[in-house]
Amino acid sequence: SKVPTITLNNGVAMPQLGFGVWQVPDNEAQTAVGTALDAGYRSIDTAAIYGNEEGTGQALTASGIAREELFVTTKLWNSEQGYDATLRAFDTSLDKLGLDYVDLYLIHWPLPAKDSYVDTYKAFEKIYADGRAKAIGVSNFLPEHLERLIGETSVVPAVNQIELHPQLQQAASREFHAQHGIATEAWSPLGQGKGLLDVPTVVAIAQKHGKTPAQVVLRWHLQLGNVVIPKSVTPSRIQENIDVFGFELDDEDLGAIAALDEGKRLGPDPATFDVA
Ligand code: NAD
Repeated sequence: SKVPTITLNNGVAMPQLGFGVWQVPDNEAQTAVGTALDAGYRSIDTAAIYGNEEGTGQALTASGIAREELFVTTKLWNSEQGYDATLRAFDTSLDKLGLDYVDLYLIHWPLPAKDSYVDTYKAFEKIYADGRAKAIGVSNFLPEHLERLIGETSVVPAVNQIELHPQLQQAASREFHAQHGIATEAWSPLGQGKGLLDVPTVVAIAQKHGKTPAQVVLRWHLQLGNVVIPKSVTPSRIQENIDVFGFELDDEDLGAIAALDEGKRLGPDPATFDVA
């Protein structure tokens, strides 16, 4: 496919752009994921809590695409943290997806107050050693959580999937990840399609290149080295969001977007989020 891969810290290749399915109902997931696969996406980002692992898995099977060409990520939900519960939850996810391995398994949130992410990650290491996840990692971990995990376990996470977009550029996390060989994956890369795509700076850069604001924002991520997983259920947007490999932002564009950082979180703060 036309999407380049990045090499994770264990040698596994991960497409730099994938398709996110948060808020896609299970009975629409097969159609949406099918549309994305037809458009050339090969990486799909789901999670147990999204409730659409079955529809996602059905689309993967129906596509007829060889398993080794697909890159499937799912995530362990908060209520299932802990060593034994994690092993059970992973079996359930694999069953729902109809797969015998995932490419990437992530701890969805650190839940620092619960203090169980280290035990949880030890179960991830077992799943990884058994070959049932080709890579393991985390999501929404702050540098302090990663420090502790790296200190108390043996497999450095391959990925940290965090909220990241031009209005929340996450410089400290990106720097920490780079120092430790952890890939940065951006969730809500388009800022959930809310205000970000109407920001005049973004609109002006889009006009300059004859592209859409969404394409400019995705291009910004790619040029920074982030993995991105934009979500849409609209076929034209699904197409548009993968058509981002034929142009480049210049230094002036990148500088203008750098100035949009305002530390604006759309989602919860990982330091305090504790919903099970
Ligand atoms: P996003 O930034 O991908 O924005 C998606 C929304 O933007 C769409 O619903 C639509 O309204 C709009 N949009 C999409 N393409 C567009 C286009 N070309 N032009 C105009 N508008 C467009 O937001 P997201 O869904 O929150 O994040 C993407 C994925 O990240 C999710 O689907 C999920 O897989 C993942 N995610 C993970 C976490 C986590 O805690 N790990 C949290 C949130 C999301």
